[in-house]
Amino acid sequence: MNKIRKGDTVQVIAGNDRGKTGEVQRISPKDETVVVAGINLVKKHQKRTGNVRTQAGIITREGPLPLANVALVCKNCNKPTRIGFGAQGDRKSRKCKKCGQFID
Ligand SMILES: [Zn+2]
Repeated sequence: MNKIRKGDTVQVIAGNDRGKTGEVQRISPKDETVVVAGINLVKKHQKRTGNVRTQAGIITREGPLPLANVALVCKNCNKPTRIGFGAQGDRKSRKCKKCGQFID
């Protein structure tokens, strides 16, 4: 069960973007990386490929961050927190270790 999921708000806890928050756009469990909106922006040189929808020139896009460098921001206490799991009715849910509230 993943601690961080697409659509979650996370705070960067290490690296150049430390302290910034954003919404999770994509997770790669295999690489253990996460792409967060507005975080770790990298400039890429995009070549025209013949696809008319491809934008040529320099584009800015989010680069992946190690999953270990982000912490989920709890909706209840609004702080970056570690995640535990607990039973909520008959399903297992994520739980904030700071305030003890379920996140899902
Ligand atoms: Zn909390």
